[in-house]
Amino acid sequence: MATPTLSIVKGSYTVDMDAQISRVDKTIDNLNADKQSLLELSNKLHSTLDLNSLITLFKLDITPILNLDDVVYQVPGDNAPIDAKGRHLVSYQLVLHKKELGGVTLIRRTRFSEKEQNFIEKVLVSLLSPLNNAIEYQQAINLALHDPLTGVFNRFAMDNMVSREIELSQRNDTPLSMIALDIDFFKKVNDTYGHAFGDCVLKHLTECVNQCTRTSDAMFRYGGEEFNLLLNNTDLTGAHELGERIRQNIEQTPCICNGQSINVTVSMGISLFNDNDTQESFFKRADEALYKAKSAGRNQVVYEIL
Ligand code: GH3
Ligand code: MG
Ligand code: MG
Repeated sequence: MATPTLSIVKGSYTVDMDAQISRVDKTIDNLNADKQSLLELSNKLHSTLDLNSLITLFKLDITPILNLDDVVYQVPGDNAPIDAKGRHLVSYQLVLHKKELGGVTLIRRTRFSEKEQNFIEKVLVSLLSPLNNAIEYQQAINLALHDPLTGVFNRFAMDNMVSREIELSQRNDTPLSMIALDIDFFKKVNDTYGHAFGDCVLKHLTECVNQCTRTSDAMFRYGGEEFNLLLNNTDLTGAHELGERIRQNIEQTPCICNGQSINVTVSMGISLFNDNDTQESFFKRADEALYKAKSAGRNQVVYEIL
C-alpha cells in the first residue's frame, strides 16, 4: 500500500509587537509529541465524522498543552482575516494528497517558540486524515439533502426537517407555517425557450426567494417547478406577508438567461400547523391553497382552507 503523503503548508505567523512577548520555556518540557500520544490523539480524532465535533475535540486536546486562547478552523476558500487583537497567532494551511483541507490558526498571548511550532506541526499531521474524512462525509450529506440544480433542500430533506420543526413548534408552543409555491405556466416557458432556459428560470426563482427569506426559513424543491418553504416561528399573517414579498420580487425581477429576458410569476398556498395536524395534513392544506391560487387566476398568495 502506498504511504499517504501528508503535507502541512505553513501559511503565516504574525506577531503584534505591542503584545507582551515572553518565552514559555516552562511548558515546552510538557510538550508531549511521542509516537504513543500522537497515536492516541489520532484515534480520538478518528472517533467522529462530524466536522464541528472534530474541531472541538482537537481544540480540547491542544488548548491546555499550549495554553491557547483560541483555535480557529477555516474551511477551504475562507480567507477571512482573523482578529487576534494584539495576541500572537500561528496559521497553517492543511493539505492532504494535494487536496486543501482548510486552515487552522492557534492564538494566544505569548509568542510561539520554534520548539512549540514543531510540536504543533506534528499534532496537525494527526488531524489531516480525520479532517479529510469529516469533510468528505459532510459533502456526501450535502449531496444527499440538496437539489443539484438550485442548491435548495430536496424532498428527502423536507420529510426529516418538517417532522423536526413540528416537534419543536409543539414543544416551544410557537407557530409553524408552510408555503407551497409553483411557477405559473412553466410548461410554456420550456416549450418556448427550451429546457435549459427553464432550468435557468428555476435557479433565478430560487435566488429571488432567498433574497426575501430569513436564515431560519428552509426552502425545498418538492419536484419539478414546485417548491415548499417551511417557516418556523411564523404565523399566517407573517407567512402571508413573506409570500406577498416573494410574489412581488419574482414578478418584478426579470429573469435573464443567455441574453434573453423574461418575467415569470408564481402562485402560493399557505397553511399554519394546528394541534390536529399530521405532517401530511399540514402539507395538504398548503397544496390545496396553492390550487385555489391557480384557479383564482395565478400570480397570487392564498391562505389555507380550514
Ligand atoms: P400551472 O400554472 O398550472 O402551474 O402550469 P405549468 O405549465 O407551470 O404546470 P405543468 O404542471 O403543466 O407543467 C410543469 C412543467 O415543468 C412541465 C415540465 O416540463 C417542467 N419541469 C419540471 N421539472 C423541470 C426541470 O427540472 N427543468 C425544466 N426546465 N422544466 C421542468
Ligand atoms: Mg406550474
Ligand atoms: Mg406544478
